[in-house]
Amino acid sequence: PVGSSIRRGLELGEVFIAVKTTKRFHQSRMELLLDTWISKAKEQTYVFTDEEDEALQKRMGDHVVFTNCSAEHSHLALSCKMAAEFDAFLASGLSWFCHLDDDNYLNPQALVKLLSSYSPAWEVYIGKPSLNRPIQASETMPNNQTKSVHFWFATGGAGFCISHRLAIKMAPWASGSNFLSTSEIIRLPDDCTVGYIIECKLGGRLLPNQLFHSHLENLQLIPPPQLTQQVTLSYGAFEKKLNTIELAGPLSLQEDPSRFRSLHCLLYPDTSWCPWPLGR
Ligand code: UDP
Ligand code: MN
Repeated sequence: PVGSSIRRGLELGEVFIAVKTTKRFHQSRMELLLDTWISKAKEQTYVFTDEEDEALQKRMGDHVVFTNCSAEHSHLALSCKMAAEFDAFLASGLSWFCHLDDDNYLNPQALVKLLSSYSPAWEVYIGKPSLNRPIQASETMPNNQTKSVHFWFATGGAGFCISHRLAIKMAPWASGSNFLSTSEIIRLPDDCTVGYIIECKLGGRLLPNQLFHSHLENLQLIPPPQLTQQVTLSYGAFEKKLNTIELAGPLSLQEDPSRFRSLHCLLYPDTSWCPWPLGR
């Protein structure tokens, strides 16, 4: 029976959570995450950024990784961070690698529940497909000719996870300086490069999952009673407007524009800053 394959023993302690950020978002985005979900997954969570920052380091200690990547939104700067995340995961020896952006809310319990259906000894790549079809790209070959390729990839802005087994197989294209070279061959962003390595180089497949969300989808469409079961959520610009999940409270829109604090209060009502009667 299907149910018997569930690994009931999976714990958050086996998951390596990497959050990508940049200096200019340390205050505006990271503080919110530290006050909310990261407080429930401190041991597992590492933040990858581009500039030293005493305030962030004070809160996270050696869980802040200062990459030497440039603070640019260029493909190469972002791929440089993904490479650092990937290497730190391999060095950790943990079972699962999960990547997040700094505008994601992660529900650690929902994540553990999801991953416990799979084994880290299988090749697993799970997340939200970025498009409703495979992306078409051209790969530069050693003789400078190009080859057309197509593959699915999980959008980085919704978060995605990779099993230990698959990560080991990805290493020749993804570890150290290899990630940057691979990303140059395909000339696409870091999350596309991950999909390219897994699907085109290793013959793997993205497992599409509906519990991962980015702000490039209409977040208002998620029924509020289902918000506490989602693995990731997000907030941000979508069609030039602020796109957030729909939650009436307990905090006002002024106090909590992203709605992450309100969601956190629903999930963890005894959080000190959550309002009474939810909090205490
Ligand atoms: N980011 C970064 N360097 C930059 C700009 C953005 O590392 O120069 C990170 C940012 O912290 C976030 C992710 O890249 O984790 C996506 O950035 P953002 O949400 O601003 O853009 P989006 O692609 O979602 O519109
Ligand atoms: Mn974003």
